[in-house]
Amino acid sequence: MTDKPTELRPAAGVLMQQMHQRLGLPAFEGGWVWLAGAGPGDPGLLTLHAVYGLARADAVVYDALVDERILALAKPTAQRVFAGKRGGKPSPKQRDISNRLIELARAGKRVLRLKGGDPFVFGRGGEEALALVAAKIPFRAIPGITAGTGGLAYAGIPVTHRDTNQAVTFVTGHGAAGDVPEGLDWHAIGKGSPVIVLYMAMQHLETIAHRFMEAGRGADEPVAVVSNATLPTQRVLETTLGQAAAEVAAAGLAAPAIICIGEVVRLRQGLDWLGALTQGRKLTADPLAAVAAQVRRGAAS
Ligand code: SAH
Repeated sequence: MTDKPTELRPAAGVLMQQMHQRLGLPAFEGGWVWLAGAGPGDPGLLTLHAVYGLARADAVVYDALVDERILALAKPTAQRVFAGKRGGKPSPKQRDISNRLIELARAGKRVLRLKGGDPFVFGRGGEEALALVAAKIPFRAIPGITAGTGGLAYAGIPVTHRDTNQAVTFVTGHGAAGDVPEGLDWHAIGKGSPVIVLYMAMQHLETIAHRFMEAGRGADEPVAVVSNATLPTQRVLETTLGQAAAEVAAAGLAAPAIICIGEVVRLRQGLDWLGALTQGRKLTADPLAAVAAQVRRGAAS
């Protein structure tokens, strides 16, 4: 038996329809826009709403970070509209993308707007949704798994853990003009947030790391950089705040990458389930114990 997508498609469609009915999920009507997250890459991380939306959409408007295997779930007849950056060319203007969504919906199509991760996390989903509201186009928001939690989970890092952090801050490392965002109080974030998760921060990592160190974060604080998270090409670099920028360059790690700063990174020694699966990495059940012992020794001296 072969696994040709063409043979699978009708069967998957029937299954999807049955599941959809049984769960009482909403129908995708013509003239609507579904603004959906595709997750960080692994197709298994799609939501049922997103899969159903893909199966039913007449037009799929997608970004650069949406995996080809995910797009392959769309109807063969669905119109595909690419709305991301390609080959260094400037990305389409946000207004043009919104106008395209409006145009397609007004033509009576079921429009799936598919974005990487979660559309409302550094994804401009809010801007597009407001444009739809202004144009009186009905829409539904379908959250996706964001790279800042799901991507880290595939590197064996839980974004919170009671023993390390009771808060986490998501930060973008890229301002509207391509610089380090200046509207942020870097000092306050560095001082107040035990774990910091950086999106789009590869370009300005050195500057950002310095700002956090100026705010009192140690140069030896653990940092993980996860590129192509959840994809077969995923790479993880464990480093420190002081060394991160240099080591990223030396390792040749490239965007998209999610960066996690904080003690929670140490849990990876116990929780790198993917490394255990693919590289036979030995996991330790008490990854924080060594650190705790070190702290105790420090307090006693
Ligand atoms: N809406 C997306 C974020 C879009 S901004 C989300 O919720 O995840 C783009 C940034 O997201 C990238 O620069 C990177 O920091 C992060 N990102 C998205 N997909 C990623 C992946 N598969 N691996 C690592 N980082 C990713």
